[in-house]
Amino acid sequence: MRFHHTIVVLAWLTLTPLHGQDTPSDQPNLVAMTAQDEAIDTYREHLIFLAHPALEGRLPGERGCAIAEEMISTTFRQLGLDSPESLTDYRDSFEFRQGGRFGSNADSKVVTGNNICAVLPGQGGLEDEWVILGAHHDHLGRGEFGSRSPDGQIHEGADDNASGTAAVLLAAGLLRDIFIDDGGPRRSILFITFSGEESGLNGSRHYAEDPVVPLSQTTAMINLDMVGRLVDDEIQLTGHGSGKGFNQIVTGVDADSTLKIRKGESLTSRSDHASFYDKGVPVLFLTATVFSDDYHTSRDDASRINFEGGANAAILAAELVRRLAVSSDSPVFTEIEGMTSAGDGPSFSDIKIRFGIKPGNYGDLEPGILVSGVSPGTSAQDGGVLTGDIMVRWNGRAIDDVRAWMGMMAEHEPGDVVTVTVLRDDSEIDLPIMLKPK
Ligand SMILES: [Zn+2]
Repeated sequence: MRFHHTIVVLAWLTLTPLHGQDTPSDQPNLVAMTAQDEAIDTYREHLIFLAHPALEGRLPGERGCAIAEEMISTTFRQLGLDSPESLTDYRDSFEFRQGGRFGSNADSKVVTGNNICAVLPGQGGLEDEWVILGAHHDHLGRGEFGSRSPDGQIHEGADDNASGTAAVLLAAGLLRDIFIDDGGPRRSILFITFSGEESGLNGSRHYAEDPVVPLSQTTAMINLDMVGRLVDDEIQLTGHGSGKGFNQIVTGVDADSTLKIRKGESLTSRSDHASFYDKGVPVLFLTATVFSDDYHTSRDDASRINFEGGANAAILAAELVRRLAVSSDSPVFTEIEGMTSAGDGPSFSDIKIRFGIKPGNYGDLEPGILVSGVSPGTSAQDGGVLTGDIMVRWNGRAIDDVRAWMGMMAEHEPGDVVTVTVLRDDSEIDLPIMLKPK
């Protein structure tokens, strides 16, 4: 159990209106009701298992990824969640090419991936509509591709994305607990952990092409990617512009949380929600506000995880799912300006250079990237970038956020010289910078 059942039932009886549906915010709230210490323990246990070096970086097609998949399906089974009827033993299997984007890497090969799916059935006339909560469970193995530190070391992928997978597992338990004795109308919930994300959203694209439950009956999809290293008790939420009606669901969801939501207007196409967005499903994306320089390196291990932040992210996600499941209205899909289709543009995996700054903001919150540190001996230091600078343009192109900037970096070869415009003491300075290999 994730919390005291008696207390939950009492709270439920006290707070549930006798007649009809109330607005989501007046109903029992998972954020307020969840025993945080127990949630953190469960989260930590799941994450440490998934990010254990014995799983060798959860590379699809390899033993470690299969162990992760076994652990995820076993956890779903232990929670009493069923495999979708159309699948065998929670597994939605597919083949894809892994190793380089679009198979450009000579070492790429076809492997089998398994998305792991589980169902919490709905009831009362809403059961044919679905809310999806997802996160990718695969990672980079020993950095055979996509690594920023191709040193042959195990890339544990604790933040990317054992953190999101553990959050889905925790949220599944919380939602099971809150709905188990509840007779009210609610949508069905599909929990999915995707494989093949790192090689180009292969698992979620496969799902979107051949869905387990109809996309036309999918109310919304929520994706968690890299929620294990939250800083300053903040989490970034984007995608709310993809569904008219999301604002009502999201408003106040963090009122009782130690985390505060920072909303961003744009939406990246670099994680699994993009595959659903492309098919017209309203999506929400939860991730950290601050980017970690350990991203896609062998340093992304469990010792650096903020377990409390990750567990609280899971609780917030569970509450968002709960609100979507019981709401009388469902969000209506709308396009977000500037959103590219899933996986378009250069991949982070294609970055061949090392710039050498520590970004101080990862979000789509304000334009530009705050430099919170410069590593010695790197392109940035040689080029004169200073801590406290805000990088605003890259060869004249506006830098909106870290993700956009990574796309720009992926276009370069070592030895290229770029002009980086920084804001320093209220004036703009152009710095010619030679890009060194990573
Ligand atoms: Zn990744």
